[in-house]
Amino acid sequence: MSVQVVAAKMAEVELKDVPSKEVTPESPLTPKTDDKGIVENESNAVVTSSTTPTTEPTVKAGDPSPGFLTPNPIKMPQASAMKRIDPQQNGGEAFVNRDGTVAEAPRLKKIQFADQKQEFNKRPTKIGRRSLSRSISQSSTDSYSSAASYTDSSDDETSPRDKQQKNSKGNGDFCIKNIKQADFGRREIEIAEQEMPALMALRKRAQGEKPLAGAKVVGCTHITAQTAVLMETLSALGAQCRWAACNIYSTQNEVAAALAEGGFSVFAWKGESEDDFWWCIDRCVNLEGWQPNMILDDGGDLTHWIYKKYPNMFKKIKGIVEESVTGVHRLYQLSKAGKLCVPAMNVNDSVTKQKFDNLYCCRESILDGLKRTTDVMFGGKQVVVCGYGEVGKGCCAALKAMGSIVYVTEIDPISHCPIMDGFRLVKLNEVIRQVDIVITCTGNKNVVVREYLDRMKNGCIVCNMGHSNTEIDVASLRTPELTWERVRSQVDHVIWPDGKRIVLLAEGRLLNLSCSTVPTFVLSITATTQALALIELYNAPEGRYKQDVYLLPKKMDEYVASLHLPTFDAHLTELSDEQAKYLGLNKNGPFKPNYYRLRTSSDQFNTT
Ligand code: NAD
Repeated sequence: MSVQVVAAKMAEVELKDVPSKEVTPESPLTPKTDDKGIVENESNAVVTSSTTPTTEPTVKAGDPSPGFLTPNPIKMPQASAMKRIDPQQNGGEAFVNRDGTVAEAPRLKKIQFADQKQEFNKRPTKIGRRSLSRSISQSSTDSYSSAASYTDSSDDETSPRDKQQKNSKGNGDFCIKNIKQADFGRREIEIAEQEMPALMALRKRAQGEKPLAGAKVVGCTHITAQTAVLMETLSALGAQCRWAACNIYSTQNEVAAALAEGGFSVFAWKGESEDDFWWCIDRCVNLEGWQPNMILDDGGDLTHWIYKKYPNMFKKIKGIVEESVTGVHRLYQLSKAGKLCVPAMNVNDSVTKQKFDNLYCCRESILDGLKRTTDVMFGGKQVVVCGYGEVGKGCCAALKAMGSIVYVTEIDPISHCPIMDGFRLVKLNEVIRQVDIVITCTGNKNVVVREYLDRMKNGCIVCNMGHSNTEIDVASLRTPELTWERVRSQVDHVIWPDGKRIVLLAEGRLLNLSCSTVPTFVLSITATTQALALIELYNAPEGRYKQDVYLLPKKMDEYVASLHLPTFDAHLTELSDEQAKYLGLNKNGPFKPNYYRLRTSSDQFNTT
């Protein structure tokens, strides 16, 4: 059964609890069974293993339109160095204290792969670290968690692996921190459900239909309330799920407890050791009488583990769905080396997901990140935003709305014109002395260098919203004449000899991922995209997808967006037959060619 069939069937079931204008089978947004050629054509949206993705679509000879071959436009930047970093720790640089003494800061904590290190028996039984009451995973810079664990159970220092665990029904096939937190976790899940309308709609629309019947999904993602909503949706659609965390700090223990109480095999807790991390993944896949046939990964560690330890499992696996930049990058590497043995879906580059991740998420989380770290008032403040791409636009819009005076720096005269949006386009050196806040979001390096940092005024807040920590030259601030003071978690005052201080946030790493949460609605877009990608790969007829990396078909991308509309009582205009003919479109979509993708800075700086 194709996803179109499934989606069309789902659309037939009335949504009772959403405002009136739901997506009906007649809606142009509802994928139809008779949309011949959509999936067939779109399944050509493969990035061939022999080529590196480029910014422009490549057209194969004989393709009816440029849209039929859509290489992934993003050449993935290396993000693995940012994996699973303790949010409390820094880059392992030396700090110069006020008294001139040099203190070595804790070093980055990195996960090692199985082939580098695997010591199941030498595990520490104590975590030896109090978990943060409210923290965000900083693991991958490209995958989001809104992990906000309100229960700090770190007083219990016994490793979950050393405990006998059972839920109220006597099932013990899980390993979590504390099953007693299940009720609390259930409330967290119910709160998340309110902001995840598309998954709830999928559940309702499925009803009798089980498009994932027989699917055995092994997952490795952040274990949060939002993931729980996804898992319970997959289960409602017929899948069996076993899950581990993709990050050692992001698990919401109470949510893991609720899932375990609900019968899910979850292996995760906040504050896992590296050894625990791999043990949990292993427990998910290494089970007598159960073999996964679908992988849902975030970062590629699960896929890597199966490749290394259980390569034969791939005989039964129908596909991999990967969410993160890092994981997708690894898949392309496998594909390029001819080692990818099943089809993989890159959901990271879905247009809907990207739009929400870059523009809308940043529009909200820039304020959240700045407020939590500095308590700054935005009204009347002068702010310079470097880079007017999707992230920059989001930051500018939010700050302008709060009454800030916003300046923008750009290198591109055409495509990102901030002037038309009412912002002053300036060079950084023209405003650097007067601004109160500097925000980088270019995806570039050395945008704010020491010269600018020297000229900033006292109290200037400096932060980065771009992918990597290269935008602000933080290393240039680690010199003996400057004093660093850690004033709060993720907040450093860097003090000049004359007493001037700047406020550096998250040491130049992504502010929002380090210091705030990601809105559940944004995660809903991602989770819905993942669910549809799983349905598509699981139900695809033999031969539709080969052993390569695919983008989500455009029509499904549009379907993800459409599923989120009813909650706003938003009404789309339907094309008339005449209009559809005039534009050369199918009335039911897709409405944009397959090469319609957001450009990101990774395109600009990594093209070959
Ligand atoms: P984009 O390519 O749309 O925008 C980047 C802009 O910066 C471009 O317009 C480019 O011309 C401009 N630019 C490049 N070098 C510059 C310089 N030296 N000075 C001024 N402008 C310069 O990319 P985007 O989608 O806006 O993403 C920007 C960065 O944010 C990327 O690194 C991306 O990975 C990251 N990102 C962060 C989040 C988050 O939650 N913080 C979310 C998505 C993406």
